[in-house]
Amino acid sequence: VSTWSNVPAGPPDPILGITEAFKADKDPRKINLGVGAYRDEQGKPYILPSVKKAEEIVRESAPDKEYLPITGLGSFTKNAALLAYGSDAAPIKEGTVSITQSISGTGALRIGGEFLARHYPASKAIYLPVPTWGNHIPLFRDSGLEVRGYRYFNKDTVGLDFEGLKADLKAAPEGAIVLLHACAHNPTGIDPTPAQWAEISDIVKEKKLFPFFDMAYQGFASGSTVKDAFAVRHFVAQGHQIALAQSFAKNMGLYGERVGAFSLTTADPEEKARVDSQLKIIIRPMYSNPPLHGARIANAILSSSELYSQWESEVKGMADRIISMREKVYNVLTHDLKTPGEWGHIKSQIGMFSYTGLQSAQTKALAEKAHVYMTADGRISMAGLNGGNVEYFAESVDAAVR
Ligand code: PLP
Repeated sequence: VSTWSNVPAGPPDPILGITEAFKADKDPRKINLGVGAYRDEQGKPYILPSVKKAEEIVRESAPDKEYLPITGLGSFTKNAALLAYGSDAAPIKEGTVSITQSISGTGALRIGGEFLARHYPASKAIYLPVPTWGNHIPLFRDSGLEVRGYRYFNKDTVGLDFEGLKADLKAAPEGAIVLLHACAHNPTGIDPTPAQWAEISDIVKEKKLFPFFDMAYQGFASGSTVKDAFAVRHFVAQGHQIALAQSFAKNMGLYGERVGAFSLTTADPEEKARVDSQLKIIIRPMYSNPPLHGARIANAILSSSELYSQWESEVKGMADRIISMREKVYNVLTHDLKTPGEWGHIKSQIGMFSYTGLQSAQTKALAEKAHVYMTADGRISMAGLNGGNVEYFAESVDAAVR
């Protein structure tokens, strides 16, 4: 018998399964709306021109391939913190942000989960929105935290269940950790308004909850990196200590380069030094130190005012293209086809994803009859739509709901 004869087969990844079904489909009209990666107007992966320039700059500087320190490229993490917190934030001015480079957003969340499981004194419970990015649940569970949920999505309005959210945070035990999507909530595409964020901040303060922000889409949601950082900056300005996971996968299109950062705001430089030392103790036995190339690219962009403004306009270009697809889907469904139902949420949702409200039988029919692939919960990646397929998509949805 083999050593592994008792290893049970695990379930397939729900999103990668969609890609497989899509690849096997030979119909030329097929559309893949499952994957969370940006596609251009031709449906192709997009390398940002600012990233290409940054790569040239890196190449011309002929850097060596030595190891980075455990916490990564210092100039990159400094710039990443500035991008998230803003130059006016007290922890930036006071030099009290403890930050490390990470293996993109996922790695940042995992370092954060491990750190909180070891050092956060008040609780092991982490409250995640329902629904949330699927990987949050095993990630925090594997970090040693106890995963719980707070209400987020209202099926009836296809909007935020703000009353449910507030009630659940108020009912959470004092000191619990709460995971907040900083912007472009995945999978719903529904974010609190600034006024709602202010209320959430008050509840977090009152209940002494610990806020952990997952910011995987800064700039990608609204087209403005400043606007998308509102929640993080508001909490910091209100005096909260926060944890923050950043990803450069979406906003710089650096998916496979795995560029991210994890940070904690601390009370003073002496405390920061202690926290820094424990981040290193967590990272060293996991992967020793992070990869070089992506951090060099991101840093070349963040450290040159010229490339930075080029990048900002390219991020806005991606966000605007997605927003225009939302408008197009809404207009075709509501005005051209008079599709039954209310579709305003397609337009008001933000970021890469839209929760369409389609039921799993309808998503199945869309795949089988129209060759349109999405997750069974009716989530679509707006980036998979373009001028060439958006009308066919809307017509297929119309047929599926009639
Ligand atoms: N957090 C959320 C909410 C996400 O949607 C994603 C990616 O889809 C991530 C984190 C992490 O992505 P990455 O590890 O590629 O940065």
